[in-house]
Amino acid sequence: MGPQEYKLCEALEDWRDEKTVEIYGCSHLIDLGPTVVMGDSVLDRIVDCAHFEKIKIIEDLRKETHWSVNDNLAREVITIIHRIIPISLYTTTPLQQHPLSNTVSAPNNGLAQHPALNPSAGIKRVLRCSACGQAGHNKCGRVCPMHPSWISSAAGKENNNS
Ligand SMILES: [Zn+2]
Repeated sequence: MGPQEYKLCEALEDWRDEKTVEIYGCSHLIDLGPTVVMGDSVLDRIVDCAHFEKIKIIEDLRKETHWSVNDNLAREVITIIHRIIPISLYTTTPLQQHPLSNTVSAPNNGLAQHPALNPSAGIKRVLRCSACGQAGHNKCGRVCPMHPSWISSAAGKENNNS
């Protein structure tokens, strides 16, 4: 199991805890355990199948796990699976379908959607001000409370008032 499979396993465990409480109430989480929503064998099977990208739709989930799950829960589980282990859409999509848009945007978009292939894509650079330490601007911006224009105008006001 790689790090993504561990992450998926944890996410599914959290999810079934939440669902157990939501459907059966808090006492059942303690009495019965979260396996009333999703058994351990089902969870293991999902992680295995997700690794090989076998689960794309609700029917895949039912077929692979023999889990009698309703559509709503199945959809939530599939969303979790695809969030952590994305299906490689770009390998199954014909590249020549939209030649114009593909040449411009497809290669970058494909990589950006797959953090495993491009680890830096998931990390957003946050602008941080070196003067005041707040995020979202730099020290040259007028939004910065430490910007010289604010300090001088505040000083000017004080001088006028006194
Ligand atoms: Zn600042």
